[in-house]
Amino acid sequence: MAQSLEERDVLVIGGGVAGGYVARLLRGRRATIVSPENFMLYTPLLPEAASGTLEPRHTVVPLRAMCPGADLLLGRAERLDLEARTATVDGRTMHWRDLVVALGAVPRTLPIPGLAEHGLAFKSLADAIYLRNHVLQQLEAADGALDDGERSRHLTFVFVGAGYAGVEALAELSDLVEDALRYYPRLRTTRRRWVLVDAAPRILSEIPSPLGDYAAAELRSRGTEIHVDTTLASVSAHEVVLGDETRIPTDTLVWTAGVAPNPLLREWGLPLDERGRVEVDELLRVRGHEHVWALGDCARVPNARSDMPDPPTCQHALRQARRLAKNLTGPPKPYGYRMLGQVATLGRHKGIAEVLGLRFRGFLGWWVTRSYHLYQLPLAQRKLRVVADWTVALLFRRDIAELGQLGHPERLG
Ligand SMILES: Cc1cc2nc3c(=O)[nH]c(=O)nc-3n(C[C@H](O)[C@H](O)[C@H](O)COP(=O)(O)OP(=O)(O)OC[C@H]3O[C@@H](n4cnc5c(N)ncnc54)[C@H](O)[C@@H]3O)c2cc1C
Repeated sequence: MAQSLEERDVLVIGGGVAGGYVARLLRGRRATIVSPENFMLYTPLLPEAASGTLEPRHTVVPLRAMCPGADLLLGRAERLDLEARTATVDGRTMHWRDLVVALGAVPRTLPIPGLAEHGLAFKSLADAIYLRNHVLQQLEAADGALDDGERSRHLTFVFVGAGYAGVEALAELSDLVEDALRYYPRLRTTRRRWVLVDAAPRILSEIPSPLGDYAAAELRSRGTEIHVDTTLASVSAHEVVLGDETRIPTDTLVWTAGVAPNPLLREWGLPLDERGRVEVDELLRVRGHEHVWALGDCARVPNARSDMPDPPTCQHALRQARRLAKNLTGPPKPYGYRMLGQVATLGRHKGIAEVLGLRFRGFLGWWVTRSYHLYQLPLAQRKLRVVADWTVALLFRRDIAELGQLGHPERLG
C-alpha cells in the first residue's frame, strides 16, 4: 500500500459549489478535487434547465476550466483514515496535507408509503432532464387518453416541499406546459392542475414574509393549489394522498421537501451534530482535527455575523469557500457573512428578490434574480452562453421535443 500512496497538498472531496470554489480560489497551493462528475452544477439554474429556458449543459461549469490551477480526480471518495491522513478514492489511496470535506447533501426522504418507488427527486442535472421529459410525456399521454379522468390525471402535477427548489420548479414547469399547449389543441380545454404541498405554515419560509406571500399570491393567481400545514400521506402510480385525506389522481409527484447531509459522513468518524452535519469551528476547521476542514451543505457552519448556523444555500457555500481558501493559504480568520438578499424566479418574467433591504417583484424581481445568478456564475464564456439562451427564449417559442432517449442508445445486437 505504501508504494501506491499518492501525496496531495489540499485534497478537496466534492466538486460542487463549495468544493469547486475553494479549489478555484486557492492561491499558492495545489488542490486536487475528487468528484464523480467533471463539472460543478449551479443549482439555482436547474429549474430553468427543467423547463427548457436554458440548455442543461449551460447550468454546469467544467471543473477543469473553473479551477485551472487544480487537479481533478474523477471518482468517489470511499474511506478516510483521519489518523494516517489518507483518503481512498475508487481503490486509490491518497495522503493529504489538508483535507476539505464538501460532500453536499442528498434529498431527505421519509418513510412514506410509495415515496421511494414513485417520487421524483429534483436535485441533480439528471433529475431536471428526467422531470422535463416526464412532464412532456404526460402531455403526450393526456393527448392520447381515452377518457376525461385519465386525461386530467396526466395533467395533474404535485410538488411536495415549497422551498426554493419546489416553488421554482413548479413555476417553471407550469409555464412550459402552458406554452406547449399551443401544439396540443385538444388539451387546451382540459384543466391543468398544479398542487404545492408543504408541512410548514407558509411557502418559501426562508424568504422574508411579504415576498413569500407575493409568491403564494402569484402562484394562486395562475391556479396553483397551495396546501400548507399539510403532509404527504402516501403515493402510488396514479394517486397522491395528503395527510388531510385529500386524494389527488396524478402520475407525477415531485419530492423537494428538503435535504439531508451526505450519509457517508457517518462512516468517516468526523464529529457530527444531531442532524448529521460535520461540526466545524469559526475557522471552518473540523473540531478536533487540525488539518481537516468542512463547508457547504454537509457542515454546520457557525457564522460570526449571524446568530444562527448558515442555511444550506449557494450564496453561503460560496462565501464559506472564499474564507476557507484564504484560511488555507494565510493566517486563518473566523468566517462571517451577512446575507445581502434572497432571490427566486417564478417562471417567465416573474420573480421575487430582496436585496440590501429593497424588495422587487414581478418583472423587476425576475430581472434582479437573473442578474444575480449571472454575477455568481463563474467564467465569462458560461455567462455568455446563459445570456444567449435567455435571449433566444425571449425571441422564440419553447422547444417541446421529449429527449428521454438521450444517453440510452439502442444496442447493436
Ligand atoms: C433544485 C435546487 C435549487 C436550489 N436553488 C438554490 C437557489 O436558488 N439559491 C441558493 O442559494 N441555493 C439553492 N440551492 C441550494 C444549493 O444548491 C446548495 O446549498 C449548494 O449547492 C451547496 O453546495 P455544496 O458544495 O455544499 O453541495 P453540492 O453543490 O451539492 O456539491 C456536493 C458535491 O459533492 C459530490 N460528492 C458526493 N459524494 C461524493 C463522494 N463520495 N466523493 C466525491 N464527491 C462526492 C457531489 O457529486 C457534488 O458535486 C438549490 C438546491 C437545489 C437542489
